[in-house]
Formats: sequence, C-alpha cells, structure tokens
Amino acid sequence: MAASEKWIKNIKEFLKLYYNDEIMSLATKFPDKKSLYIDFFNIEVFNKDIAADLLESPDSMIEAFEQALFETDLPFSEPLKDAHVRITNLPSTSKIPIRDLRSNDLSRFIAVEGMVRRATEVRPKILKAAFRCLRCEHITYVDQPGSKMEEPYAGCENENCLKKGPFKIEISESEFEDSQKGQIQESPENLKGGTNPQSIEIKLSDDLTGQISPGDRVIINGTLRSVQRLLREGKSTYYDLIIEANSIERLDQEFDSLDISAEEEKEIRDLSKDPRIDEKIIASIAPTIYGSGVLRNVKEALMLQLFSGVAKELPDGSRVRGDIHIILVGDPGVAKSQLLRYIVRLSPRGVFTSGKSASASGLTASAVRDELGDGRWTIEGGALVMADMGIAAVDEMDKMREEDKSALHEAMEQQTVSIAKAGIIATLKSRCALLGAANPIYGRFNRYEGIADQIDMPPALLSRFDLIFVLLDIPESTTDTKIATHIVQTHYAGELIQQKRNVSSTKITQEYIDAQIEAINPEIEPELLRKYIAYARRNIYPVMDSEAREHLISFYTNLRKLGEGKDAAVPATARQLEALVRLTEASARVRLDNRATIEDARRTTELTLECLKQVGVDPTTGSFDIDMITAGVSKSQRDKIGILKDVIRTIADRTQGNKAHITEIIVEAEKLGIPKEEIETYLERMSRAGEIIRPDIEHVRLVTRY
Ligand code: ADP
Ligand code: MG
Repeated sequence: MAASEKWIKNIKEFLKLYYNDEIMSLATKFPDKKSLYIDFFNIEVFNKDIAADLLESPDSMIEAFEQALFETDLPFSEPLKDAHVRITNLPSTSKIPIRDLRSNDLSRFIAVEGMVRRATEVRPKILKAAFRCLRCEHITYVDQPGSKMEEPYAGCENENCLKKGPFKIEISESEFEDSQKGQIQESPENLKGGTNPQSIEIKLSDDLTGQISPGDRVIINGTLRSVQRLLREGKSTYYDLIIEANSIERLDQEFDSLDISAEEEKEIRDLSKDPRIDEKIIASIAPTIYGSGVLRNVKEALMLQLFSGVAKELPDGSRVRGDIHIILVGDPGVAKSQLLRYIVRLSPRGVFTSGKSASASGLTASAVRDELGDGRWTIEGGALVMADMGIAAVDEMDKMREEDKSALHEAMEQQTVSIAKAGIIATLKSRCALLGAANPIYGRFNRYEGIADQIDMPPALLSRFDLIFVLLDIPESTTDTKIATHIVQTHYAGELIQQKRNVSSTKITQEYIDAQIEAINPEIEPELLRKYIAYARRNIYPVMDSEAREHLISFYTNLRKLGEGKDAAVPATARQLEALVRLTEASARVRLDNRATIEDARRTTELTLECLKQVGVDPTTGSFDIDMITAGVSKSQRDKIGILKDVIRTIADRTQGNKAHITEIIVEAEKLGIPKEEIETYLERMSRAGEIIRPDIEHVRLVTRY
C-alpha cells in the first residue's frame, strides 16, 4: 500500500472540514471549472505529516487528494471525475530560486518565482490513443505518457486476431488534454547587479493552459522533473529540468517584490525630509561619472525617470503612461553606456539590452517555432516586455533592427507589444520607461544636421522621447581637467583597494582608502536608493497644485508662440506638454511629496529648455525649431534645399543629359544667398537622402523633377 493511501480517510475528513463549500460550488460549475484550489497552510494546520508527505511525494499524494475528492458524497450531482486538486501557497522552505534548483529537488513539490519569458500555443496532447485494427475492427487503447507516440507493439488485443496491424488511430475514440509549455525566468528585481537571469521550463496541462503570457510575474507550484535530452542520434546522459505545474499563482504585476522593512521605511522617510535630498540622489547616480554641464542635467533627468510620473487611468478607460522615455545621443566615449548600466542597477526593475543584440525576440517580442514548443509556435517576450513596470535600457539604438524600430512606436506610446504571425495574435504588456543611447552613424555628431538622420532613427520615433540629450565631446580645458582628475581618482581608489586585498606586505591603511574613496562614493548607498525609489513609486501619487499647472501651461504656450508666423516651423507639440506633466510628478515623488508644486514645475521646464536648446535650435538662425527633431531638417535648411533644387532643375533644363555642373550650381546658389561652404553639405545630404545622384564627380542630377 502506497504511503499516500493510508491518508485517504484523513484527507476526506480534511476536505469536509475545510473545503466543503468550495467543493459544492465546484460541483455546480463542473466541468467548466475543473479544479479545487487548496491552501497548503490549511493542510499543515490540519495534519503536519500529510503536509510533509505532500512536499516529498507530490505525485502519489495529489493523486490521493484527487481520489478523496472523487469519493466525496455530493448530494445533487455526479462525482467529480477527473477533477484536479491544485495546491497553492507553499511554505517558504519549498520556494527555490531558479538558479539553485539541483538534482536532489527532483520529484519534490517546489515553488519557483519569476517572469514568463516564453509560452507556446495551447495544443491538444493525446493521453490515450485508440488504435483500430484494420483486419478485425477491434480497438486497442494505448496510454501516451511521453512525447513520442507509443504504438500497440504487442499487436491487436482481440484474442481471435492478435495481428500486428495495420492500425489506424481513431481520433474520436482517443482521449486528449490541452497542453502548453513555457519558460520562467528570474525577475529583474531579484538579480544582483546585472547578472544574467536564469530560466526553467514549465509544463502546463488542462485548465492551467492559456493563462500566462510573456512578461507575467508568477509563482509556479509543481513537481520538478528531469527529461532526457534528445540528441540527433540516440539519447544523451544529460537531463534537462522541467517543472510540471500543479498550480499557478499570479504576483501583483504593478509592485515589485523588493522587501522594505519597517526600519528601512523609517530611514527612507527621514531621508526624504532632507532639503538637499534631490542633490544627494543626483550625486548618487553613477558617482564615478563626473557630471558637470549637460551630464549633470542628464543625471537629474535620470533621477526623474527612476521615480517616474504617475500612470493614469482616465474616466473613459484609456491609460496615459507615467513612464518617462529618455534618449542620450552623442559622441562615442562620453559615458552613455556606463550611465545606462548604472540606471539598470538602481531601478527596482531594470533590464539592459543592446540594439544590436542578436536575440531572436529582439526588443519587443517574436513568434518562433522552436524546440520548446516541439514544433509549435512559441511567443517570446523581448526586453521591453520583460521590463514591464520597470526601466528598459537599450544601448546602441542606432543599430536596431528595422522590425524593432517599427514595433517601438506602439511599445513607447500604447505600452503594448502586438504579435500577429502564423495565425497567432497576441498583445503583451510593456509598461516600461525606455532609456536609450545612440551613437551617430557617421562617427561624430554634427550640430548642423538633424538628429534623426544621424542616429538612423525615424523622426516620428525620436519625437516619442520625453527628453533628448545631446552629449558632445568637445575639448574644453577646465572641464577636461576635472573629468581627468575624476577618472584618475576613480582608478587610483580602485588600485588601492586591489593592492590592499591582494598584496599582504602593503602599507596601505583602510583609513587612507576610505579617505580616497570619499569623492566617488555615492552619498546614498545603491541598495537603499533602490528601495527609496521603489517605496516612492509604490506609495506616492502626487497631484499638481494650481501654481504648478499654470506654470506648465504658460511655458508651453510661450514655446508655441515662438513658432508662430514662421509657417510650418511648429516649436512644440502636445506630446511635450504631457512630458512636462510626467516630469513634474516625478520631481515631487523625489521628496515623497503627494503634492507637485511650482518648484517641481520649474525644475521640469528648466530641464526641458536645456534639452530643447541643444536639439531644437536651428544653428543657422539661432531660433527654436522642433522640426530639427521631428523632420530632421530645420525650416531654414529645408528652404535652402528647396532653392538648391530649383537651381539644379534650371541648370539641368538648359544642359544636355539633364545634369548640372557643380561649379555652375555654386555660382547660381550664391547669388540666391546660400553661403558657398554650406552648398556642399546640402548636396551631400540630398544625395544621401536619394534626392540627387552624382553621375560623375562634377555633376549632379535630380532623381525626381520635384
Ligand atoms: P559611450 O557609451 O558614450 O561610447 P562609455 O560609457 O563606454 O561611452 O564610456 C567610455 C569610458 O569613458 C568609460 O569607462 C567611462 O567611465 C569613461 N568616461 C567618459 N566620460 C566620463 C566622465 N565624464 N566621467 C568619468 N568617466 C567618464
Ligand atoms: Mg557605448
């Protein structure tokens, strides 16, 4: 007698005592609902030995629970045949981090927590195949536990036949069950300092299928099993781990699972009262990066991004994002990548990826046929899905794949990622802030050209960022000295630490090291800052006071006025106004204030103005022009290109071969007021844009007449 059988009587008693109502309710809904959910805690209270056995031998014990459920007397209905018993809320001793799963956990009842990375389609799996003998019509049933079809090797069961086939599978006589596979990956908040997340496969069946999609945060309770790896020839001696799920618990998607103790909460509250709290936080963001000028603004913006604006649900059910998207554009070697990595470590949920990463799922999501799905389609969430409710840092955005660029529009504004491929239609959530970095594709950044062009990003996409920073690497001796001192100091402190750790005869004292580290130590320890940010995002929901609202409105309308009368050059769009609101809310969250004040609004408009000055100023006229971002070319430049085209057209019309000599173009264009040194640049750009071609070194030809 199996250990579990001796418990059946007790289990029946347990069910009657604790779950009578649930069982009656299940009976009325059966078989639309097929599972009885039992809290492990109740079993433990009822009988510790049953609870212990369940953790050690889940297979036979769950069978015993299901047997007991089946044998429960139901006054008004048939017995619950094939109903499931699903156990939730396992004790913390059975919760095992994915990276710690080992062979001695095999066959035990365990719980793993993580995010769904991939999920296959739900497809029927045959449990019992009905083989009809084509000689005698008799049906032989064969159980199908594995993934390879078992045939009636012993032959037809009919005693008068016993032939070895041929057989035909009768689908209508066979038994099927829905089945689905998935992959669970460690959540970003549980990863220390940018380690790569590990993952495990899970198997779901019957009414557990179709419940999860990539990006979901879950606890999977189930039995850990090993499956032999299949090699092309024969079987491997290595086994892969898979969890056969008994139940799924959904974790609150909105909140991260960072634990903040009561003492820490007090520490955070006290810290927030410091009048210099914002300065302290800015100084604690990437302290090894020397931040003056633009970089100081960048750090301030990154602080606001970490705290985030408030996501709002409007009365009509639509959702407005609170996430602040920021992009850092600029010369190589100005610490863009370093800043991204630091932010990922500070964000309660940060995911780092590179635009050129080769991963199949890319930034958004993909549908692939792979081994996980045994030939079924698998949906895999990319970085923006896995960063749901966090920050996705995407480096090298200039090297993004075209599919990612087009999918980013939706991800940034609607904060969803849709897949429509091979009959699969899925929408995944990607409610994250995007922190991008991009290098100019022509090496160094050119102030005279539009940004969009230089980082190979569609202007419409670029305009979805709340803040765009341009970081130029211009030699400037005072700043250069400061940066150099800072970098050398960082390395010096690092050297001291290494020598102290590794050279036993060293004379370096800890006091000396501490003094040297002073300048590059964050004012607030990263672990505490991370919790501070998580705390603010969870608990603080600022409302703008009337002064703050008025300030934003007047700033925005003034910005619009700058563009008046200059026909097409619109200086700002309503998108910028929404960005201002988000930044203002984030600024209030920094000091844990539920009220956003004029100070917050001012900080925001100053920061925005700084950014606009860098990117929206037309270098030829000095005036503001948001078209520099959105269209890539400023209005005055567009006008000049228009004039140049006219010139080329006129010359070509009177010349053989429809081409215009460059010397002639320069002469004519100068007469119309375009400086000689600009003409070459414009011609270069028109040729890159495919508007003109150069049949030889001296001539250009218009591709289209207009
Ligand atoms: P990017 O991604 O912009 O090309 P990186 O982030 O790779 O640049 O930075 C290159 C190196 O220069 C890094 O080691 C970084 O720490 C250093 N660096 C650049 N600017 C600064 C600065 N202002 N302060 C300290 N270090 C800096
Ligand atoms: Mg870089």
